[in-house]
Amino acid sequence: MKRRAFLGAAAGTAVLAGCKSGHEIEGGFTGVDVARGHALRDGALQAGNPPDVTRRTRVVIAGGGIAGLAAARALRLAGIGDFVLLELEDSAGGNSRGGAVNGVACPLGAHYLPVPGDHAREVQDLLEEFGLRRRVAGRWEYDERHLCHSPQERLYFRGEWQDGLLPVQGVGEATLAQYRLFSQRVEALRREARFVIPTLRAQTAPLLLSLDALAFEAWLDREGFTDAHLRWYLDYCCRDDYGAGMAHVSAWAGLHYFASRHGFHAPGDDNAERDAVLTWPEGNAWLMRRLADPLGERLRTAHVVTRIAERRGGVEVDVFDAATRSRIRWQAERCIVALPVFIAARVVENPPDVLTRAASFIHHSPWLVANIHVREPLADRPGAAPSWDNVIYGTRGLGYVDARHQALDPTPRATVLSWYRPLGPSAIDGGDGRRQLLDRPWTGWRDDLMEELSVPHPDLPALATRIDITRYGHAMSIPAPGLLRQLGAPKQVRAGRLAFAHGDWSGYSIFEEAFTRGHLAV
Ligand SMILES: Cc1cc2nc3c(=O)[nH]c(=O)nc-3n(C[C@H](O)[C@H](O)[C@H](O)COP(=O)(O)OP(=O)(O)OC[C@H]3O[C@@H](n4cnc5c(N)ncnc54)[C@H](O)[C@@H]3O)c2cc1C
Repeated sequence: MKRRAFLGAAAGTAVLAGCKSGHEIEGGFTGVDVARGHALRDGALQAGNPPDVTRRTRVVIAGGGIAGLAAARALRLAGIGDFVLLELEDSAGGNSRGGAVNGVACPLGAHYLPVPGDHAREVQDLLEEFGLRRRVAGRWEYDERHLCHSPQERLYFRGEWQDGLLPVQGVGEATLAQYRLFSQRVEALRREARFVIPTLRAQTAPLLLSLDALAFEAWLDREGFTDAHLRWYLDYCCRDDYGAGMAHVSAWAGLHYFASRHGFHAPGDDNAERDAVLTWPEGNAWLMRRLADPLGERLRTAHVVTRIAERRGGVEVDVFDAATRSRIRWQAERCIVALPVFIAARVVENPPDVLTRAASFIHHSPWLVANIHVREPLADRPGAAPSWDNVIYGTRGLGYVDARHQALDPTPRATVLSWYRPLGPSAIDGGDGRRQLLDRPWTGWRDDLMEELSVPHPDLPALATRIDITRYGHAMSIPAPGLLRQLGAPKQVRAGRLAFAHGDWSGYSIFEEAFTRGHLAV
């Protein structure tokens, strides 16, 4: 069903609620300094300027996202304290930063970490260090306070809320049969090939490469998965994990989402034990903060890396300090380049082939996250109870997570709803997301989200007080068909005195991939 038809059918009217709230909703853009990043692109920060000052250190880490922070932790664990971490934005964390709206903590990007599987050993160690996981009577247990509380997710479908995200309410037997078939297919593929997180521990078997060669949508066509509800759900999952629709990611990526973790569970599947996820009001910024805090002055924010050059016996890293507007040259033994691939290719002098090639075929999906402060809990439509993740069938956005879901105090209070909007290419988006992010005023996004969320929550316009919007022009690499083959076996990437670490090198971006790459780069 077309989105507008659905909205009309479900609500009776299509509301432009931002304009009808009866009070002014404050808001604007926050979180990412678009101008600073683009000044680097336009060459406005470096070209030919000698440094104002030269400094020495043993290791420079360029980029303070999860990969860069993981590298910093690994250096500390190895007893190497003489390093700096240089980050472009005013705070570290990259896509895993957090914020607050009217005093209520919320994520600006990444909001959860699934309980890591056996291959993500470094992430397991980190969680142990942070006290999130411990061994009790020979078994690993996770701290209940940080596991997502029940109910975890619900879907607004056909005018009511249902448990879980797979459409089941009133769907026919043919749909249920396709759910069961897809579940069996995923299980069979899981047995045949290693779908592993992190990908650098996978063997790039012929089966994985054949799935990589094909778009997920084409694979579904080939295998006879034609059911509209199944396909809506699978497309939703691709947009949720990769920021792009199922016609634009590989069959490997579409299946990896399920096969690397909990599988796909058809309704009524008794073994449908869903893998637990860890989450916090501020999202993965909870983890990020604990990685960043021990760094003290070694973490230099508002420091834009403009050039990385290998020299005989060392590395030179040039930086523009946006606070003092001065140029600093760091001389180091080595550099860990924890930057997105397209930026690394721009700043590394004489980039190695592996980097130039990767930058030519990796494309990034843009994203937008809107944090909506509501002064009291929203009224609800019938059906499943308010959950952590609340999705509306057939919309462009991915729904919202409630920042107060983990609160132990049950008193109804103000909260923040984080609305996620992927803007990569998909059946409902034309692929001009980056331009939209630059051109549209924040009020356009406000109206979009109000139109979607007012259907299940008609009182949202009246209760919303402020909306802060974070724009990511180049959020994460899209695992497009052929990417695995082009990346080669996605192992660790090194060249001379440079080691590369970023989620991009895995072909898709999640905490476990970024963290493991940062750790192993050291
Ligand atoms: C909206 C959104 C939601 C997400 N949700 C989840 C989730 O729930 N769970 C999950 O596991 N993953 C999620 N992700 C994926 C997320 O990208 C990864 O979890 C992880 O944060 C990626 O870390 P990274 O270090 O690879 O990259 P990045 O976060 O891209 O870090 C790169 C860093 O380099 C900095 N930088 C760039 N250029 C320069 C320069 N010239 N000089 C200095 N610094 C520079 C950037 O500012 C940034 O801090 C989400 C991503 C987005 C965008």
